[in-house]
Amino acid sequence: MSSASRDLKPATIAVTSGRPAREPDRPLNEPITMTSTYVAGGEVEYGRHGNPTWAAFEETLGALEGGRALSFSSGMAAVTTVLDLVGLDALVVAPAHAYNGTLLQLADLESRGRVRTKLVDITDTDAVIAASEDAALVWLESPTNPALELADLPTISAAAHTAGAYVVVDNTFATPILQQPLTLGADLVVHSVTKYLAGHSDLLMGAVVTGDDELYAVLKGRRDLMGATPGTLEAWLALRGLRTLHLRVERAQANAAELVRRLGGHPAVAEVRYPGFGGIVGMVLAGGAPAGDRVTRSTRLWVHATSLGGVESTFERRRRWKAEPVTIPEGLVRMSVGIEDVDDLWEDLRSALDGLTL
Ligand code: PLP
Repeated sequence: MSSASRDLKPATIAVTSGRPAREPDRPLNEPITMTSTYVAGGEVEYGRHGNPTWAAFEETLGALEGGRALSFSSGMAAVTTVLDLVGLDALVVAPAHAYNGTLLQLADLESRGRVRTKLVDITDTDAVIAASEDAALVWLESPTNPALELADLPTISAAAHTAGAYVVVDNTFATPILQQPLTLGADLVVHSVTKYLAGHSDLLMGAVVTGDDELYAVLKGRRDLMGATPGTLEAWLALRGLRTLHLRVERAQANAAELVRRLGGHPAVAEVRYPGFGGIVGMVLAGGAPAGDRVTRSTRLWVHATSLGGVESTFERRRRWKAEPVTIPEGLVRMSVGIEDVDDLWEDLRSALDGLTL
């Protein structure tokens, strides 16, 4: 984080960070630098080691999270690089309801003897702390995807550090606008930039942020060697998305809170899950899987699609994915509430839900 960013509020950081120097005739925005290599003799030398467009995105995200950011080709590239920090056969503690790609990655690493894993209920702080006693890395997601559970980040981080473990928080759902894990004790933050940070469902990208210079250097070295670097256009679009992150999150959250209120009174809805902030809502339909499949195909505005965090409202029944944990209810529809007019969103949803009870 540059010292200039330290006193500024997130909305100001999102708009003003990562800009070229203010010199006559310099552009206001960092251009898209398309190059595979650089004239020899500098610090970067080759396109896999750095790019000015990535750097502008990284400066802005780093300032928002309060650390130094590294961008990756996808969220999973960021997840995988962080998991690679631990030694052979090390113990990784992770949420039983983490994003299923993270769970699949952990299962694959475990099946090959690379790590050992313990999956925990992250709402049970004592159980997480007990499981973390011999851990090398405690992976947290808060809220979790799609169960929307919350972890006590400061308490778990402090205990994990006493045990000598790194603490990682996947902050994809909350974004740095609503939660800054590094200020709560985490060592590393992971993002699927694909989601809210980029915000327009038009690219794949990931990021890791840390306040620890040694960890940063190790991760940068891993990125250089693994080569999971983002495209320049993607980084430029993601930075353009970041400029409005605060406005999009604010609007999505306001829409989500209103939909939660209205959904609670609908007879087709057995349970509404909402962690109290953010734009992701879980609605568990009384009619289970068939009801979920029907509703997600019966709307005009809500798009039936996986992924989340775009300006448009999307939803899907999560158990349609074979890898989703069986403890996620069959009828749970994960809703990524967009920034449209909330009355229009509700009317569209209500008519699809009414179709279930007729
Ligand atoms: N973390 C969370 C919480 C996610 O929801 C996702 C994707 O859905 C990822 C990580 C992986 O990100 P990506 O799809 O950009 O690889």
